[in-house]
Order: sequence, then C-alpha cells, then structure tokens
Amino acid sequence: MNRQGRPSAPGTVSDQAPKTFTGHQGLRLVEPLIFEVGAPDQTGVDLPKPKGGVNRLGGLERAAPVDLPGLSEPQVVRHFTRLSRKNYGIDMGFFPLGSCTMKHNPRLNEKVAGLAGFADVHPLQPESTVQGALALMDQLAHWLITLTGMPGIALSPKAGAHGELCGLMTIRAALEARGDARARVLVPDSAHGTNPATAALCGYVVDPIPADERGRVDLDAMTAKLDSDVAAIMLTNPNTCGLFETDIVEIARRVHEAGAFFYCDGANFNAIVGKVRPGDLGVDAMHINLHKTFSTPHGGGGPGSGPVVFSEALAPFVPPPWVVGGEGGFTLSETTGPESVGRMTAFHGQMGMFVRALTYMLSHGADGLKQVAEDAVLNANYVLETLKDVITASFEGPCMHEALFDDRFLKDTGVSTLDFAKALIDEGFHPMTMYFPLVVHGAMLIEPTETESKASLDEFIGAMRALAQAARDGDTDRFENAPVFAPVHRLDETQAARKPILTYQEPVPAEAAE
Ligand SMILES: *Cc1c(COP(=O)(O)O)cnc(C)c1O
Repeated sequence: MNRQGRPSAPGTVSDQAPKTFTGHQGLRLVEPLIFEVGAPDQTGVDLPKPKGGVNRLGGLERAAPVDLPGLSEPQVVRHFTRLSRKNYGIDMGFFPLGSCTMKHNPRLNEKVAGLAGFADVHPLQPESTVQGALALMDQLAHWLITLTGMPGIALSPKAGAHGELCGLMTIRAALEARGDARARVLVPDSAHGTNPATAALCGYVVDPIPADERGRVDLDAMTAKLDSDVAAIMLTNPNTCGLFETDIVEIARRVHEAGAFFYCDGANFNAIVGKVRPGDLGVDAMHINLHKTFSTPHGGGGPGSGPVVFSEALAPFVPPPWVVGGEGGFTLSETTGPESVGRMTAFHGQMGMFVRALTYMLSHGADGLKQVAEDAVLNANYVLETLKDVITASFEGPCMHEALFDDRFLKDTGVSTLDFAKALIDEGFHPMTMYFPLVVHGAMLIEPTETESKASLDEFIGAMRALAQAARDGDTDRFENAPVFAPVHRLDETQAARKPILTYQEPVPAEAAE
C-alpha cells in the first residue's frame, strides 16, 4: 500500500518471488510516483513568512494550489536515483536495437567535450574568441566530406530526421531554381518512417517502391515509376534489412536520367564507413547520424546531430552557416546564394556532438574507421550464422551490419515476436528492434555493432537459442507474461503511445467512486 492507501501498481515487482512485507525485493526497491511520495502541503525549504509588503499582482494571484509535490532534498535525490537504476542503457549491457547503432560511447569523447574551451562557449561569442571551436567544426566537416566523397556540407541539422528535412528542402530548392515543379518522391517499402514523413512535410506525394525477393529495391518497379514528376528517391544503403543495395549505381543513373535527385538515408553509414564513398555511388544528398556512426550518445532522443553532405549539383542551395578559413582565422559565413534554403537552426548545430564525433574519428584514424565497418559487419554475420538454423533469417546470404529475422520459426508455437522480445528482457537483454522493417512478417532486427566482444555476443546467442527451443517445446508460460523480472510487466504500449497520460491525477477515493 502506498501513502494514499492504494495498493501499489500491479506488477511493480515480480510476482514470482516470495512476497515481502514492504513490497521491496531485497535492494530492488519499489518506487511510487513523485506525487505519491510528496504532498502539496509539504516543502523542502523553511523560509520565514514575509512581513507584510505590498501586493503588486493586481488581482492576478493564484487562487488554487500549484499542485506540485513537496519533498525534501534527500527524498528527491532518492526518488530520481532509484528511477535511474531501473533504466537500462548501453553502459549496463548489450543493446542490439537494429537500425539504431547503439555502440559504446568512449569516455575519451566525454573528456574532450567537457574541456572548458568547448563546453563553456556561447554561440553569440565574438568569432575571435572561439577560433578553436570553429577550427574543430572545419576539421569535422573535412572528415565528413572526405569519408563520403561529397563536396557540400551542412553541419547544423540536429538529428537524422532533421537532416532528411534539410536534404529534401535543398532538393526542392534546386528543382524550383530550374523551374521544374515535381510532385512525387519515391520511397522503398523498407524505409524508416522518417523518410515518408520528411517527403510529406516538404509537400511531396510519397510513392512506395516494393522490395524484391532478395530484400533489395525492385529495379523494374522503380523504373516503371520514374518520370518527369519524380523529384527524388529516398533510399537507405545498406538498407533497413541490413543488405547492401547491389544495384545502387544503376539506380542512381536511372534517377538522374529522369532528372530527379538521389537522397540517401545515411543512418546505416556505420556499415560502410571508410570502405565506400556514397559520392562515388551517385548520391546527391545524405545525412549522417553522428549519434550512430560516430559514437555520440543517443541521449534519450536527443541531442543528436545529423549533418548532411551534398553533391556539386546541390551545393549552391545548402543552408548556412559555413565555417570559412582565411588569413585572419576562421569566420562563420552567412553569405548565401539567392537560392539557398536559409538557416535550419538558430545557431550552428550541436557543438558537443561535433567534439565527440571528431574525437572518435581522430582516435580511430582513417584505418581504424575502416575497421569499425569491418568489425560491425563481422559481428552481425556471426549472429546471423549462429542463429539461422533455429531462427528464420529473412533473406539468403550474408548481411551487412545488422541481421534480419522473421517469425516463421514461431509458427504454431503460440508465441509472437513481441512475446519473444519480452522474454529476452527476463534474460537480461534489451530486445532487438521488432516489427521493423515492415517488408517481412514479425521482424526481429538485430544490430550488435562493432563494440561488442565475442563473449557478450555468445551470451546473447545462447539466450536466443534457448528461447527458440523453449518456444518449440511449448513452454508458453515463459513468454505469456514476460517480462516478469522487470520493474513493470507487460505494458499496453499502443495505449501508452496513443493516449499518454501526461499529468498526475489525484486518485478518487474508493468510497467517492461508488
Ligand atoms: C535512426 C534512423 C533515422 C532517423 O534518425 P534520428 O537521428 O533518430 O532522427 C532515419 N533513418 C534510419 C534508417 C534510421 O535508422
């Protein structure tokens, strides 16, 4: 029972273990909501009552209580520390979330990003006082241009999706400049949801292209849709099935022949960094998720960073600012051609991410970055090869940086992809990406990244194999209510996403409710 005399939320601790008097399980503590711990009439500070004084609020003073929980400092510290210990992150264990590239964030990056000259600068400081920061942005831009083989760059977009928006706005500006209004953008069925969303936000009609039986873009279907009304194709390479688009050079040629542009979603650049330059494949614009390929933290949805690189054809339309080096040092140029799309952000982008990403590049060097891609691909293929006799792989042949499985191996077991992923939580792993991409049924997309050791991969593979066996053996109990060892059990995730309850409502006392 909590303070209000309500029973604790069902499933706050495992039902499997013996019941304790307190509800806690050893040092795994139940944590109520902060509103249940605190009370509006309590306070953590003890200030003397003001001695009179003139009321200057002119009748606008608050009439009702603020309804914030009152707690002392140690209560607040304990509340948030306990919550933080229920969190699972890459520093706690394996995080094979496909498409997200949850690699280790080296501590060296944090150390460098914390240096006063980077951490304490203000975006409105005079340029003469931030020459080091500007030099760093210039050097990062140089690395990204070199690694992608694309001459134009915008550093400022603040996430992959924001980079997509930057890229498509630039493509639209280029088309408008030549008086060529076009209405459609081609997007493969396997695309990340942000691709069609971006195209729609830019005012385009999204025209889907199916995948072929090899999990790649169906070249004939794409060609049939290419005409003078198509502004661009948005293609991910390697694609979200973890496969390299083997026809990519031919795709680029046909897209250009139709007068359209080639936007590449570069979220999977981790698989090819140092090995393949997207510019050589005919790409016109591509965002790079620094928080994936270049190891900056994902940080619970932000701050990310999604610089975009551009081909020669799009360079005149790229948004400012640019770092320009000259005799007197570096300046941030706002000088845009009349055709530029204009600024994407108020300032210059995520400085802390720039520092971390460049630190990562310099600590690996050019040869080390190449090895990043090789090791990521090796790890994913190790997972694919050691699991595919018991878990159905969706496509034949080796994969790139992530391995895609589907739910055919669960046929007639009564266990779903969701159940399987939840059981994985009980085994101590963050689940893989589920039900994405949509081109296969009950997808399980596993991305181990290059920073996992063979020992951690083997432990994960062991758990996956054991669960597959349990499903085949009819051990459905293990799956039905999973996770049972997590702080909360099976959640209604659809309801939580569709109808989130964002404010605390005082529970109605039982008598009043009757
Ligand atoms: C992560 C991802 C994105 C979006 O990037 P954000 O930084 O999360 O906005 C787009 N496409 C693919 C394939 C991705 O994996």
